[in-house]
Amino acid sequence: MADILEIVGLTKRFGGLVAVNDVSFSVREREILSVIGPNGAGKSTLFKLIASFLRPTNGEVRFKGERISGLAPHIVARKGVVRTFQETTIFRNMTVHDNVVTAHHLRSQASLAGFYFGSTAARQDLAAFGRSADEILTFLGLVPMRNEIASTLPHGHLRALGIAIGLATNPAVILLDEPFAGMNHDETRRAVGMVRKLRDRGITVLLVEHDMAAVMNISDRIVVLNFGQKIAEGTPSEIQRDPMVIEAYLGAEDEAIGL
Ligand code: ADP
Ligand code: MG
Repeated sequence: MADILEIVGLTKRFGGLVAVNDVSFSVREREILSVIGPNGAGKSTLFKLIASFLRPTNGEVRFKGERISGLAPHIVARKGVVRTFQETTIFRNMTVHDNVVTAHHLRSQASLAGFYFGSTAARQDLAAFGRSADEILTFLGLVPMRNEIASTLPHGHLRALGIAIGLATNPAVILLDEPFAGMNHDETRRAVGMVRKLRDRGITVLLVEHDMAAVMNISDRIVVLNFGQKIAEGTPSEIQRDPMVIEAYLGAEDEAIGL
């Protein structure tokens, strides 16, 4: 399968700290690729660099062969590389459906003024957004919560809403930073199924996740970071046997790799 993303010599310094240090790897179209590593290894920074929320100190990210580093994050999102994260903007006083409709405006063809003046283009967009939102809610199993106010949702459903908001922009690549954090076993199991469905839909998934059982279960390939550097890359079974990886995780009781 073709490479959809190329991460080439990516480096990010914060003052004296090298959070991401000369990291290179490729992401194949329609794979689920997880990035793991101890706390502070640079995983979130790497995702922010890929989605262009941060500008690299060195190196670049290419999406379908085109350099996207340095572009504004909303431009990168429009091109199809979308990051959802713990702080994803959810309008807490809006319904689930309205949240997803609102998220569609990111890819709207109508100008903002068009919305004010009720132009035909705006009305057509709004109707299309409503239908698309319902399709996404169906896909994620959120239809029963369609008219609930977001602030009343349990944790797992809020996360799913965050992913729904990401999907509203019709991404080619979605970056999920700890989407299962704080979920119980059943919620995690459901969420893992959801991530698989994203891929089955043709979306390439990049995942940062601490739940090693889930990571080993769901990933096609895994990239391991330690102190900002890539120390391993391979299939889950290759990673579980990798001496460098085992070494990096030794003593980190809360991050057992599930060996
Ligand atoms: P991870 O997600 O793997 O836990 P992060 O990417 O969040 O790691 O952080 C990597 C390192 O970079 C950490 O040492 C963190 O403190 C530092 N860091 C992250 N963001 C910033 C920032 N905006 N300014 C300064 N240091 C940062
Ligand atoms: Mg992080």
